[in-house]
Amino acid sequence: MGMYLAWFTPIPDTCPFFSVRETLVHIYLECARLQPLFRLLTNILLRFWLHFSPHLLIYALAIRGPTKSRDLLVNLLLALAKVAIYKTRVRRLADGVSCDCGAYF
Ligand SMILES: [Zn+2]
Repeated sequence: MGMYLAWFTPIPDTCPFFSVRETLVHIYLECARLQPLFRLLTNILLRFWLHFSPHLLIYALAIRGPTKSRDLLVNLLLALAKVAIYKTRVRRLADGVSCDCGAYF
């Protein structure tokens, strides 16, 4: 991600939390800081008889049939998780603050 966004804005090539090369996959799936958030999502989704996975985070659920209300709610939660990941990263870049992604969610 960094190499593409760097065309428009000055951003680092490395993760602002850990000194590893930052890619879009790292930001939203691999970064170690996301593990508490993913555990929380796993626990929440199990209450809906769903398993959390990177595929689910990226593509969300198809909205259809008798589970439409559940699917909409789960997709809202997944969208909020992505916003939490994005906002805590932006905050880290701006202030150097290390914000708990799960708590922000
Ligand atoms: Zn990272």
